[in-house]
Amino acid sequence: MAAGIEVVALDGDDTLWHNEGFFADTQARYCELLAPWASGEAIDAAMLECERRNLELFGYGVKGFMLSMIETAIELTAGKVSAVEIQAILELGKEMIAQPVELIEGVDEVVPSLAETYRLVLVTKGDLFHQESKLARSGLAELFERVEIVAEKDRATYQRILAASGVEPERFVMVGNSVRSDVLPVLELGAKAVHVPYHLTWELEHAEPPAEHDGYWEIDSLHVLPDLLGRLATPG
Ligand SMILES: [Mg+2]
Repeated sequence: MAAGIEVVALDGDDTLWHNEGFFADTQARYCELLAPWASGEAIDAAMLECERRNLELFGYGVKGFMLSMIETAIELTAGKVSAVEIQAILELGKEMIAQPVELIEGVDEVVPSLAETYRLVLVTKGDLFHQESKLARSGLAELFERVEIVAEKDRATYQRILAASGVEPERFVMVGNSVRSDVLPVLELGAKAVHVPYHLTWELEHAEPPAEHDGYWEIDSLHVLPDLLGRLATPG
């Protein structure tokens, strides 16, 4: 008897919809705002350090990013940043939250077709409210059996999701753009993972892809995912 994939879990940011580009664009505008005090390079470095420190306090998402921009501005200006400038920083963050959701090419065809064959789960990090709103605006919400907006994508998180879905690891595949979050912890559990790289990766999300692994694939586009999953029926 052949047992193939039963549950397909999909990442949201930079897998289903564009995300990192908005952070990069916003940070470029933030650098312009602080240009009187520091070079772009110094600002980027200070921001990265600040985000690294704050990650365990604020978690992922735009709201934590806004607070890190404000904190970095206070540091780099030695407290001289004005209330008007802080207001401009808050506006940058609010604009990000209001951005329309832009689906990544192929998502509008591939995800509905996957939903005909597999149970779909969305697994995403970030601000709860913002991610729920992006999912609602994506037009994809009804295709998912479960939506998991999580604080961290680690082994324990995936273990909980597998249990909640009532699926064996061999029949679960996670698809996403982050090796660190979407691939490595999933493979540790004996489940399968498909990496779909995005052209931008946040520095704190960087990880090396696994060496040869028989539950791991890298694909260029979601277009080839249905074929790949179809071939994964394993003799049992
Ligand atoms: Mg992602």
